[in-house]
Amino acid sequence: MGPGKVFGELAILYNCQRTATIKAATDCKLFAIERQCFQTIMMRTGLQKQAEYTAFLKSVPSFQNLPEETVIKLADVLEETYYSQGDYIIRQGARGDTFYIISRGRVNVTMRSPDSMEEKLIRTLGKGDFFGEKALQGEDIRTANIVADDPDGVACLVIDHDTFDQLISRLEEVKNRYVDESQLRKQINREFADVKLSDLAVIATLGVGGFGRVELVQMVHDKSRSFALKQMKKAQIVETRQQQHIMSEKEIMEEANCDFIVKLYKTFKDRKYLYMLMESCMGGELWTILRDRGNFDDATTRFYTACVVEAFDYLHARGIIYRDLKPENLLLDNRGYVKLVDFGFAKKLLVGRKTWTFCGTPEYVAPEIILNKGHDISADYWSLGVLMFELLTGTPPFTGPDPMKTYNIILKGIDAIEFPRNITRTATVLIKKLCRDNPAERLGYQKGGIRDIQKHKWFDGFNWEGLIGRTLTPPIIPHIRSVLDSSNFDDYPPDSDPLPQDDLSGWDADF
Ligand code: AMP
Repeated sequence: MGPGKVFGELAILYNCQRTATIKAATDCKLFAIERQCFQTIMMRTGLQKQAEYTAFLKSVPSFQNLPEETVIKLADVLEETYYSQGDYIIRQGARGDTFYIISRGRVNVTMRSPDSMEEKLIRTLGKGDFFGEKALQGEDIRTANIVADDPDGVACLVIDHDTFDQLISRLEEVKNRYVDESQLRKQINREFADVKLSDLAVIATLGVGGFGRVELVQMVHDKSRSFALKQMKKAQIVETRQQQHIMSEKEIMEEANCDFIVKLYKTFKDRKYLYMLMESCMGGELWTILRDRGNFDDATTRFYTACVVEAFDYLHARGIIYRDLKPENLLLDNRGYVKLVDFGFAKKLLVGRKTWTFCGTPEYVAPEIILNKGHDISADYWSLGVLMFELLTGTPPFTGPDPMKTYNIILKGIDAIEFPRNITRTATVLIKKLCRDNPAERLGYQKGGIRDIQKHKWFDGFNWEGLIGRTLTPPIIPHIRSVLDSSNFDDYPPDSDPLPQDDLSGWDADF
C-alpha cells in the first residue's frame, strides 16, 4: 500500500481484533486517529448540530409552543441546502410547500410591483432568519422572491409541509398510545419471587450467547413447566465493558409485557455469573428452520415479519430501540409464534434523543450506525427490511467476506442490491421502503408510524387481529413432545470452558 491508502478502519467503529498485520516496507509517515477520539468528535459534532438547529427553530414564533422533544426531532429532519449568489431560492407567485431557515449567508427579499416588472428590495435577511413559514400550514403561493446575496454562498435549513406534518402527528400518536403496564407485569414476576437458583435443575443446553450458555431448566418442585436460564460470566461482561447493556437488558425484559417478547421472570447472581430466568420457547431459533429449509415463501415470511412488527410496535411506543434483529434472536414458542429474545443491545431513549453506540450484527446494521451519525428507533426499521430479505432468500441483502466489506456494501444502499426473482414485486417495494438510507424516510418512521407497515400492500389480507389474539395458525408448527424436549435446538458439547474469575466489584448490585 502506498500514500493515500487507509488501514485499521474497523477499529474506528468498535473494539476488534486485527485481521491482518501491517509492516512498514520503507520509512513511512502516517496519520492516525484513535477510536475514542473519532467517536467523541462524531458524537459532539452531531449534538452540536442538533443544538444549533434546535436554537434556530426555537426562534421561529410558530414553533415556540412546541414541546422541546418535538423541536429536537424537527431539528433532526432539517436538511441543509446550498445556494450561490444570485440564485432564486423562492419565486414570487410560484407555489411552494417548503419552509427555510438561513444557517449561513444573506438573502434579499424582493417584490414585483403590480404595474412594473421591476423587482424592489424589501429587506435583507441573515443567519437565523426564516421565510416561507406559511407553507407549513399547507401549499402556499409565494408572495415575494428570495434571492441569495452573499459572495460566499447561502445555506438554508429546509423542511417541507409533508415531512413537518408527518413528524408532528407521529409524535402525537406515540404519546397517546403509551400505556404503562409495569404493574401488571410485576404481578407475573411475583409468582417467581421465592424461586432460588438451587430450585432449578439443568436439563440441556439451548444455546450459547456472548457471555455464556442458555440452559433449559426445570423447577425441582414443579415439573409441569420448563424455563430458559441464561448465564452470563460477570468477568467477561466487565472485560468487554458491557455492564450498562446488561443492566438495560434486564430492566427492559422484566418490564416488557408483550406476547411477542420473551418474558424474564427473575434474575439471580453469584460470585461468577448473572442469571436470567425466562420463559422457554421450545420451537427453536428461526435461524435453524431457515437454515434447514433454505428460504421461506411470501406467506411464511409475512407471518414472522408481522410478529416482529408487533414486538417493535410495543417497544417503540415506549421509546425502546431493539438493535439486534436477526433470525437467531427470533424463537418459536410451542405453537409456532415468534418472540424476540436477547435484549443485550436494547435501549430506552428519551423522546427526540439519539444514541451513538456501535452495536448489532454487521449484516443488519443501518448506515447511520456505521457512519456514527447517531441513531434511533428508525434503525430497527432498516433491520426489518434486511430480515424480510433474508427470510425470503436465505441470505441477508448486504453481505461481504468480512465486516468492513459488509459495511461498505451497506453504505452503497439497497438500490445497488439485486433482488432475486423469487421476491415478489410488493415485497421488494416494502423492503426498499424500510431500507432507505435516510432514517427519516423509512416506512414506520412517518406520519402513520408503524401502522404504515401494517397497512402496506404486502400485508393486504393479513389477519392482524388473529395474530394478536393468537387464533391464526402459524405457518410452521414445531414438533415438541414435552416441556423438556430440546430437539428443536442444535446440540452443544458440554461446557469445557475454565471457570471464570470471580467478580465482586458490585456493579451488578441492581441486577
Ligand atoms: P442470547 O444470548 O440471549 O442470544 O441466547 C443465545 C441462544 O440461546 C439463543 O439464540 C437461543 O437459541 C437460546 N435461548 C435464549 N433464550 C431462550 C429462551 N427463552 N427459550 C429458548 N431458547 C433460548
